[in-house]
Amino acid sequence: MSVSVRAAAKINLHLGVGRARADGFHPLDTVYQAIGLHDDLTLSPAEGLTVRTDAADHVDAGGVPDGEDNVVLRAARLLAEHAGRPATGAFEVRKGIPVAGGMAGGSADAAAALVACHRLWGLDTSDEDLLRLAADLGSDIPFSLVGGTARGRGRGELVTPVDDTGSWWWVAVPATEGLSTPAVYRHFDVLRPDAPVEPPPADPVLEALATGEPLRLARALHNDLQEPAIDLRPELGDLIVRGEAEGALRGLVSGSGPTVVFLCESAEGARETGLALDGAGYDVVLTATAPVAGAHVMP
Ligand code: ATP
Repeated sequence: MSVSVRAAAKINLHLGVGRARADGFHPLDTVYQAIGLHDDLTLSPAEGLTVRTDAADHVDAGGVPDGEDNVVLRAARLLAEHAGRPATGAFEVRKGIPVAGGMAGGSADAAAALVACHRLWGLDTSDEDLLRLAADLGSDIPFSLVGGTARGRGRGELVTPVDDTGSWWWVAVPATEGLSTPAVYRHFDVLRPDAPVEPPPADPVLEALATGEPLRLARALHNDLQEPAIDLRPELGDLIVRGEAEGALRGLVSGSGPTVVFLCESAEGARETGLALDGAGYDVVLTATAPVAGAHVMP
């Protein structure tokens, strides 16, 4: 019997970044939202531990390692060690989330692997322990487990769910070539030597979410990594201007980029903006609704 798990991409509605701490991490105050672009992972019983990746047409999975560096295997090994059992199974990952796109595709796979192993191995690990293991693996992974809309503090790993009864429509435009998250943070340090010790707080986005009004949320969106990402890739700035001219309420670099996401007024608005960007020659233009669930077993 195999287990299939679906895990969603994330965007950051607010990404407040403070000055790097002594341990090198940047303190964050962020609001994550899980959006309807997914990776699907299947785990089947096997004697060894392997991972194979394939990808939807719009994703280039060339940068995904197939060996021990794949975060799926690291997640399986960490949970097995915690549970005192061998790490076994054959993973197949089908990527629908752009790789190195600032949408936490690797984190989604790691969260999916934790959920799949937990089910296939018949474990009774508490939610608290799973979240702790997820945080040890990577800052965005606890959110990938939780999904929905949530605030992240610390380095993003301390997540608390946020009330979000809205139904939001996004257009996502990935770039052909990924951007390295550490490189964007390094460039943030260069551009913002005066960054505050405390990250800019997420309150405006939280207040806007509570209204359920797309225009209010559009005005409140904030990403401190947008400036360094655009400085490294000036075409992202052009894309934002273009999407806004084509009717999106607001364009924003997703996390560390280079995917750009556009918040739209409605399903129809997203369809129109998507078609216009497609017509303008952008190779991949995706439409997605949010919020959606975190990593979950599929029937
Ligand atoms: P984030 O937004 O969390 O910084 P990202 O979306 O920019 O992440 P990912 O797609 O998570 O980027 O990939 C970052 C790097 O992680 C890749 O370049 C790849 O080398 C490595 N990696 C390891 N395992 C995976 C995986 N299962 N899927 C994607 N990338 C992986």
